[in-house]
Amino acid sequence: MKIGIAGGGLMGRLMAHGSSQLGHEVHVFEAGPEAPAVMTERAAAFTSAGMLSPIAEMEAGGEAVYALGIESMRRWPQIHRACNQAFDLCINGSLMVCHPADRASAERILAHTRPKSSEPQPTPLAAQELEVLEPLLKPRLHAWMLPNEGHLFPSQALEALRRYSPNSHWEFNTPVLEVEAGCIRTERGAMNFDWVFDCRGLGARSALLPLRGVRGEIFTLMPPAGCVIQRPIRLMHPRWRVYMVPRPSGEVVVGATEIESEDRSPTSVQSNLELLSAAFSIAPSLAEARIVSSDVNLRPALPDNLPQVMSRPGLTAINGLFRHGWLLAPALMHQALEAMGAKREEHALV
Ligand SMILES: Cc1cc2nc3c(=O)[nH]c(=O)nc-3n(C[C@H](O)[C@H](O)[C@H](O)COP(=O)(O)OP(=O)(O)OC[C@H]3O[C@@H](n4cnc5c(N)ncnc54)[C@H](O)[C@@H]3O)c2cc1C
Repeated sequence: MKIGIAGGGLMGRLMAHGSSQLGHEVHVFEAGPEAPAVMTERAAAFTSAGMLSPIAEMEAGGEAVYALGIESMRRWPQIHRACNQAFDLCINGSLMVCHPADRASAERILAHTRPKSSEPQPTPLAAQELEVLEPLLKPRLHAWMLPNEGHLFPSQALEALRRYSPNSHWEFNTPVLEVEAGCIRTERGAMNFDWVFDCRGLGARSALLPLRGVRGEIFTLMPPAGCVIQRPIRLMHPRWRVYMVPRPSGEVVVGATEIESEDRSPTSVQSNLELLSAAFSIAPSLAEARIVSSDVNLRPALPDNLPQVMSRPGLTAINGLFRHGWLLAPALMHQALEAMGAKREEHALV
């Protein structure tokens, strides 16, 4: 089949990868440039931390996000193999930690992150276990291991998804003006396809799709030599939430604010102070880390903050990935391919 994809961010690239791996001819139309710079208007996917946290994200997304997340966690290793392991993917759990004084509020947060009893649960860690797992962390923190969670390196993964999409054609700097069943219209005119996937994120906002952007600010730090973390670490605090995610270069991403605003201007002093102070409070050696970059982007969210896959013959729209896009995208890709009528046996190949 000849497939048109509007939007070349996370969902667009994953649809291109999945469809082309199934043998379809794929055409992607992306409004932005091929290699957008930090702090420019670009896919939220480039800014994200890349955590894959089905259990931790239950607090924000409940059972629905957990179920899609668990399915995606099964699929990421397959995608990783299909991309010839060209991006960093690590599934070695994540940690939730709190200061001793905040134990009660941490327990309240953990109460919202309990999968069904038959499934792996957050497990408390003894102080010695924590020290062995993450020596960078301050001693005497309370910590819980969230099994089977992971992280990936978003910019590498975006590049790999594009590179490992055989028989795909990419048009950057090409805003889509209109998406219809079997048709994508750009300034150059209308092009017909057997099926169209609308993956424009916030760019798909319309009267029928009341999307909003939720501002997120994030920092990349280079810690002093020898100061590394191995997995995502989230601080549970009654006032501040902060996470740290490792990058293969040894850098640490510290994020992220969640502000009900579509302001894309640079990070604020308050966000700087709060995020970095909270990170420093659990990992004091970050005091001498260097701030390599900061970035801001808007998460595409629907009113219920849940994702939607909407289909009619010739058109599937996937949107509302909010703060869990990397976590949910593989499961949503399979829903979208099913909607297109691809056979289930074929999906097993992707
Ligand atoms: C600070 C921050 C941290 C995050 N951390 C995580 C995390 O740790 N884990 C996680 O799972 N998720 C995380 N996310 C969320 C994740 O990044 C998003 O859910 C995901 O990127 C949404 O994917 P999308 O493809 O729908 O939108 P996007 O990734 O935004 O892609 C949409 C694309 O469509 C293009 N487009 C828009 N309009 C048009 C048009 N008219 N024509 C052509 N192209 C168009 C855009 O240029 C863009 O490239 C984070 C987000 C932010 C901002």
